[in-house]
Amino acid sequence: MQEIYPWQKNDWANLQELRKRPPHGLLLKGTQGIGKFDLAMRFAQSLLCEHPDAAGFACGVCPSCHWFSQGSHPDFRLLQPDALSQDGDDGEDAKPASGKKPSKQISVDQVRSLADFFGMSAHQGGRRAVVIHPAEAMNTNAANALLKNLEEPPAGLLFILVSHKPQQLLPTILSRSLSFALSPPDTESAVRWLAEQGVKNPGEALAASGFSPLQAVKLDEQIGSEERTKLLRAVRQPESLDVFALAEMLQKTEQVLVVQWLQQWSYDLSSMKLAGKLRYHLGEDAAIRKLVEPIAPLTLARLQKYLQGAKREAQHTLNPKLFLESLLFSYRQLMLE
Ligand SMILES: [Zn+2]
Repeated sequence: MQEIYPWQKNDWANLQELRKRPPHGLLLKGTQGIGKFDLAMRFAQSLLCEHPDAAGFACGVCPSCHWFSQGSHPDFRLLQPDALSQDGDDGEDAKPASGKKPSKQISVDQVRSLADFFGMSAHQGGRRAVVIHPAEAMNTNAANALLKNLEEPPAGLLFILVSHKPQQLLPTILSRSLSFALSPPDTESAVRWLAEQGVKNPGEALAASGFSPLQAVKLDEQIGSEERTKLLRAVRQPESLDVFALAEMLQKTEQVLVVQWLQQWSYDLSSMKLAGKLRYHLGEDAAIRKLVEPIAPLTLARLQKYLQGAKREAQHTLNPKLFLESLLFSYRQLMLE
């Protein structure tokens, strides 16, 4: 039996209903970091497996499963941006391997390369599958090329589109795909799973990730990081925040990451002000409530807007220290208005 995440049991059972009469296009959508891609791969493998079990899971031992796990199944194709294929990650932090940045898009050539695949007949049982991940990474040309295939699909072929931004897909693609929304993970099984992965602060990491367990695994290291702890301690007291010392301390940390920490912080400031609750910094209600008490909601909204701009800027900045100084100055200024 091939593993799915513990919070996907219902989704898996519902997918089995589709086995009898699969649509041509299936859109798996839901928040980032809940395992949509892995579920798509498990489903594709199980469709191609020669001996799936009663629950629909691939057997893991037949020739088809063997090919699939080797990435060489003749009836399967995976389309994803080069940035993902190269680091096997979510692409956000893909590093250029040879000076040239790997593409974050799925190109029209990648979609066109499927023509050869469609030209051949299926090897096993007539079923074939193509996983496109993330579907919103298709540029317009690629999406239009795919559309032709969705309109006149080769027999037995299932397109599985994976997306956490379905609103960015062409309406014509949406209308030709069966939309399948994955359930958000329930806290209990997500926390238990995180603990099994060796995450030290499962509850805190899950909250900080915005309830995306797969992101929480990565966040766990950051949560315990000295830089984040020092930053969060400093922003609590804007009046005594030492901009230069803090910028100096943070200059080896990725700037985008620093902005993200501040964005989560600022999200919680607003959330406490407007709704009296926290999302990321659980258990710090009293301190945060006191901090936002004298601050106008409009100021907190301006802080969030400022940080959105700063996040874009952080990806292109040439002088980390200068960028951080300006970031922290702006924060202090807004908070002391
Ligand atoms: Zn099998």
